[in-house]
Amino acid sequence: IAMAAQMTDSHRRFLQILMSHGIMEGSEARKLHRHCCEIHKVYYAHDKLDDFINTINIHLQPLFMQIRKGMSEDDGRVRYALVNLAETEITKMASDYAENELELFRKIMDLIILSENGFASSTEILNFADQLKTKKMKKKEAEQVLKLFVEDKWLSEKNGEYTLHTRCIMEMEQYILSNYQGVARKCNICHSLAIQSQVCETCGIGMHLPCVGKYFKAQTEPHCPHCNDFWPHEIP
Ligand SMILES: [Zn+2]
Ligand SMILES: [Zn+2]
Repeated sequence: IAMAAQMTDSHRRFLQILMSHGIMEGSEARKLHRHCCEIHKVYYAHDKLDDFINTINIHLQPLFMQIRKGMSEDDGRVRYALVNLAETEITKMASDYAENELELFRKIMDLIILSENGFASSTEILNFADQLKTKKMKKKEAEQVLKLFVEDKWLSEKNGEYTLHTRCIMEMEQYILSNYQGVARKCNICHSLAIQSQVCETCGIGMHLPCVGKYFKAQTEPHCPHCNDFWPHEIP
């Protein structure tokens, strides 16, 4: 156990690179793990990435940071993200954005979480720009701020529609679950927060799209895993 907790230069390099990316795909993280161990000539085993990360996490504890393992709602694949545990709210973003930009982000979060499919259109979002209480924004400004939110990996954009970025979901999961009680739901399959999801019209449970795909893969007629009613959505 003492050996496992030893933080080496390979761990520090891994952390530094992950920090600069914010979030990384599982396959990238595995490659980086190997690379860091080889460069610093320390013990490497391909199936020990989670132990390797645990060691880093022990050392991150006093800084209230953590490398968290999660899943992308788009492709269902593993992601690793460096998250901040110190603050559990949008105040995490406070040092990077002006007050009216944060107000806009809260509006966007409301729109996304209260929507059926986990998306808010740019039109819906831009409509809020001149209604902000802290300080109104011109449409042009709001567009610029939206771009920043995407660059900073708080939002991701698909054809003019916005959803929460995987990194944002991984970092804000607890905040969202406690601030949107009864609205934000956990996936019935993997039990983590589901933003983009399909919802049972009978009992109201939700599932991530990749989880829907995996769950119904072998079934000719899909039924809700909770109430057993017919699953009326298109299976991804
Ligand atoms: Zn799921
Ligand atoms: Zn159901």
